[in-house]
Amino acid sequence: MAGKDVTIGVLALQGAVREHLAMIERCGARGVAVKRPSGLSGVSGLIIPGGESTAIGKLIDEYGFAPELKKVGEAGTPIFGTCAGLIVLARRVKGRHATLLGFVDVTVERNAFGRQVDSFERDIMVSGIDDADRPFRAVFIRAPVIEEAGPEVEVLARIDEGIVMARQGTFLVGAFHPELTGDDRIHRLFVDMVRQAG
Ligand code: GLN
Repeated sequence: MAGKDVTIGVLALQGAVREHLAMIERCGARGVAVKRPSGLSGVSGLIIPGGESTAIGKLIDEYGFAPELKKVGEAGTPIFGTCAGLIVLARRVKGRHATLLGFVDVTVERNAFGRQVDSFERDIMVSGIDDADRPFRAVFIRAPVIEEAGPEVEVLARIDEGIVMARQGTFLVGAFHPELTGDDRIHRLFVDMVRQAG
Protein backbone atom coordinates (compact mmCIF):
# COMPACT_ATOMS: atom_id res chain seq x y z
CA MET A 1 0.00 0.00 0.00
CA ALA A 2 1.25 3.47 -0.84
CA GLY A 3 2.42 5.38 2.22
CA LYS A 4 1.42 8.90 3.09
CA ASP A 5 4.41 10.23 1.27
CA VAL A 6 3.53 13.90 0.94
CA THR A 7 1.93 16.45 3.23
CA ILE A 8 -0.48 18.88 1.62
CA GLY A 9 -1.74 21.95 3.43
CA VAL A 10 -5.18 23.51 3.07
CA LEU A 11 -5.24 27.23 3.74
CA ALA A 12 -7.73 27.35 6.61
CA LEU A 13 -8.82 30.97 6.73
CA GLN A 14 -12.30 30.44 5.37
CA GLY A 15 -14.13 28.01 3.12
CA ALA A 16 -14.48 24.28 2.61
CA VAL A 17 -11.35 23.15 4.44
CA ARG A 18 -12.54 19.84 5.89
CA GLU A 19 -13.76 18.49 2.56
CA HIS A 20 -10.39 19.17 0.92
CA LEU A 21 -8.54 17.50 3.80
CA ALA A 22 -10.75 14.42 3.42
CA MET A 23 -10.03 14.27 -0.32
CA ILE A 24 -6.27 14.61 0.23
CA GLU A 25 -6.35 11.71 2.69
CA ARG A 26 -8.43 9.67 0.27
CA CYS A 27 -5.67 10.14 -2.32
CA GLY A 28 -3.15 8.62 0.09
CA ALA A 29 -1.43 11.86 1.13
CA ARG A 30 -1.44 13.61 4.50
CA GLY A 31 -3.61 16.72 4.81
CA VAL A 32 -3.06 19.52 7.32
CA ALA A 33 -5.03 22.68 7.96
CA VAL A 34 -2.75 25.73 7.66
CA LYS A 35 -4.00 28.43 10.03
CA ARG A 36 -0.86 30.51 10.44
CA PRO A 37 2.05 31.32 8.10
CA SER A 38 4.34 29.10 10.20
CA GLY A 39 2.15 26.14 9.18
CA LEU A 40 3.43 26.46 5.61
CA SER A 41 6.92 25.27 6.47
CA GLY A 42 6.07 21.57 6.57
CA VAL A 43 3.96 21.27 3.43
CA SER A 44 4.96 20.15 -0.04
CA GLY A 45 1.73 21.34 -1.66
CA LEU A 46 -1.06 23.75 -0.80
CA ILE A 47 -4.77 24.06 -1.61
CA ILE A 48 -6.45 27.46 -1.41
CA PRO A 49 -10.14 26.61 -1.05
CA GLY A 50 -13.26 28.37 -2.25
CA GLY A 51 -15.13 30.81 -0.07
CA GLU A 52 -15.24 34.53 -0.56
CA SER A 53 -12.15 36.03 -2.11
CA THR A 54 -12.53 39.48 -0.51
CA ALA A 55 -12.72 37.91 2.94
CA ILE A 56 -9.87 35.48 2.22
CA GLY A 57 -7.77 38.37 0.88
CA LYS A 58 -8.32 40.39 4.05
CA LEU A 59 -7.38 37.45 6.24
CA ILE A 60 -4.27 36.76 4.13
CA ASP A 61 -3.17 40.33 4.88
CA GLU A 62 -4.23 40.30 8.50
CA TYR A 63 -2.29 37.14 9.35
CA GLY A 64 0.75 38.18 7.33
CA PHE A 65 0.35 35.29 4.89
CA ALA A 66 1.09 37.18 1.64
CA PRO A 67 4.93 37.18 1.74
CA GLU A 68 5.02 33.58 2.93
CA LEU A 69 2.60 32.40 0.24
CA LYS A 70 4.68 34.21 -2.38
CA LYS A 71 7.80 32.42 -1.16
CA VAL A 72 6.06 29.05 -1.25
CA GLY A 73 4.85 29.58 -4.83
CA GLU A 74 8.19 30.93 -6.01
CA ALA A 75 10.00 27.97 -4.48
CA GLY A 76 8.06 25.65 -6.81
CA THR A 77 5.71 24.18 -4.23
CA PRO A 78 2.53 23.25 -6.13
CA ILE A 79 -0.53 25.34 -5.26
CA PHE A 80 -4.11 24.50 -6.23
CA GLY A 81 -6.67 27.32 -6.05
CA THR A 82 -10.34 26.46 -6.33
CA CYS A 83 -13.02 29.07 -6.93
CA ALA A 84 -12.09 31.95 -4.58
CA GLY A 85 -8.64 30.30 -4.51
CA LEU A 86 -8.46 30.81 -8.28
CA ILE A 87 -9.16 34.51 -7.71
CA VAL A 88 -6.36 34.62 -5.11
CA LEU A 89 -3.88 33.12 -7.62
CA ALA A 90 -4.98 35.07 -10.72
CA ARG A 91 -2.84 37.81 -12.20
CA ARG A 92 -5.85 39.88 -13.30
CA VAL A 93 -9.29 40.14 -11.74
CA LYS A 94 -11.80 42.24 -13.65
CA GLY A 95 -12.90 45.31 -11.73
CA ARG A 96 -10.13 45.04 -9.16
CA HIS A 97 -6.86 46.93 -9.21
CA ALA A 98 -5.10 44.94 -6.55
CA THR A 99 -4.58 41.26 -7.09
CA LEU A 100 -3.49 38.95 -4.32
CA LEU A 101 -0.74 36.54 -5.40
CA GLY A 102 -0.83 37.03 -9.18
CA PHE A 103 0.96 33.79 -10.02
CA VAL A 104 -1.27 32.55 -12.83
CA ASP A 105 -1.43 34.47 -16.10
CA VAL A 106 -5.21 34.61 -16.42
CA THR A 107 -7.96 37.21 -16.40
CA VAL A 108 -10.80 36.21 -14.11
CA GLU A 109 -14.32 37.47 -13.89
CA ARG A 110 -15.90 37.00 -10.49
CA ASN A 111 -19.50 35.83 -10.13
CA ALA A 112 -19.47 35.19 -13.85
CA PHE A 113 -22.75 33.32 -13.91
CA GLY A 114 -24.76 36.21 -12.48
CA ARG A 115 -25.89 36.91 -8.98
CA GLN A 116 -29.22 35.20 -9.40
CA VAL A 117 -27.51 31.87 -10.10
CA ASP A 118 -26.15 30.87 -6.72
CA SER A 119 -25.02 27.44 -7.65
CA PHE A 120 -25.41 24.73 -10.23
CA GLU A 121 -23.84 21.46 -11.25
CA ARG A 122 -22.61 20.51 -14.66
CA ASP A 123 -20.82 17.57 -16.21
CA ILE A 124 -17.56 18.81 -17.68
CA MET A 125 -14.64 17.15 -19.45
CA VAL A 126 -11.27 17.68 -17.79
CA SER A 127 -8.03 16.80 -19.56
CA GLY A 128 -5.21 15.26 -17.62
CA ILE A 129 -7.28 13.44 -15.00
CA ASP A 130 -7.59 9.65 -14.80
CA ASP A 131 -10.25 8.21 -17.05
CA ALA A 132 -10.57 11.59 -18.79
CA ASP A 133 -13.30 10.32 -21.14
CA ARG A 134 -15.65 10.17 -18.16
CA PRO A 135 -17.23 13.55 -17.28
CA PHE A 136 -16.53 15.19 -13.95
CA ARG A 137 -19.59 16.48 -12.10
CA ALA A 138 -18.57 20.04 -11.25
CA VAL A 139 -20.29 22.09 -8.55
CA PHE A 140 -20.21 25.82 -9.28
CA ILE A 141 -21.01 28.18 -6.39
CA ARG A 142 -21.10 31.91 -7.25
CA ALA A 143 -18.29 30.87 -9.48
CA PRO A 144 -15.71 32.90 -11.35
CA VAL A 145 -14.64 32.10 -14.88
CA ILE A 146 -11.31 32.52 -16.67
CA GLU A 147 -11.85 34.83 -19.63
CA GLU A 148 -8.31 34.94 -20.98
CA ALA A 149 -5.25 32.82 -20.44
CA GLY A 150 -1.65 33.62 -21.32
CA PRO A 151 0.58 31.40 -23.49
CA GLU A 152 2.04 29.48 -20.56
CA VAL A 153 -1.37 28.43 -19.33
CA GLU A 154 -2.62 24.99 -20.27
CA VAL A 155 -6.42 24.87 -20.45
CA LEU A 156 -7.77 21.69 -18.85
CA ALA A 157 -11.51 22.35 -18.99
CA ARG A 158 -13.75 24.76 -20.80
CA ILE A 159 -17.51 25.27 -20.86
CA ASP A 160 -19.58 27.65 -23.03
CA GLU A 161 -19.02 30.51 -20.58
CA GLY A 162 -15.24 30.23 -20.46
CA ILE A 163 -12.27 28.31 -19.05
CA VAL A 164 -12.99 26.57 -15.75
CA MET A 165 -9.79 24.63 -15.09
CA ALA A 166 -6.18 25.36 -16.04
CA ARG A 167 -2.58 24.67 -15.14
CA GLN A 168 0.52 26.81 -15.32
CA GLY A 169 3.58 24.86 -14.25
CA THR A 170 3.21 24.12 -10.54
CA PHE A 171 -0.09 26.03 -10.27
CA LEU A 172 -3.48 24.43 -10.77
CA VAL A 173 -6.69 26.48 -10.79
CA GLY A 174 -10.37 25.63 -11.02
CA ALA A 175 -13.55 27.70 -10.97
CA PHE A 176 -15.67 25.00 -9.30
CA HIS A 177 -15.59 22.96 -6.09
CA PRO A 178 -14.03 19.51 -6.74
CA GLU A 179 -14.15 18.66 -3.02
CA LEU A 180 -17.95 18.54 -2.94
CA THR A 181 -18.55 15.47 -5.08
CA GLY A 182 -17.37 11.95 -4.39
CA ASP A 183 -15.07 12.09 -7.40
CA ASP A 184 -11.44 12.45 -6.31
CA ARG A 185 -9.83 12.56 -9.78
CA ILE A 186 -8.95 16.27 -9.63
CA HIS A 187 -7.39 15.93 -6.19
CA ARG A 188 -5.44 12.93 -7.52
CA LEU A 189 -4.10 15.08 -10.33
CA PHE A 190 -2.92 17.65 -7.78
CA VAL A 191 -1.45 15.05 -5.41
CA ASP A 192 0.49 13.65 -8.39
CA MET A 193 1.79 17.15 -9.20
CA VAL A 194 2.98 17.43 -5.59
CA ARG A 195 4.65 14.00 -5.68
CA GLN A 196 6.41 14.88 -8.92
CA ALA A 197 7.60 18.24 -7.62
CA GLY A 198 8.92 16.71 -4.39
N1 GLN B 1 -17.78 34.53 -5.67
C1 GLN B 1 -16.73 34.21 -4.76
C2 GLN B 1 -15.66 35.28 -4.78
O1 GLN B 1 -15.66 36.14 -5.59
C3 GLN B 1 -16.11 32.87 -5.02
C4 GLN B 1 -17.11 31.81 -4.75
C5 GLN B 1 -16.55 30.51 -4.29
O2 GLN B 1 -15.39 30.39 -3.91
N2 GLN B 1 -17.40 29.52 -4.26
O3 GLN B 1 -14.81 35.25 -3.94
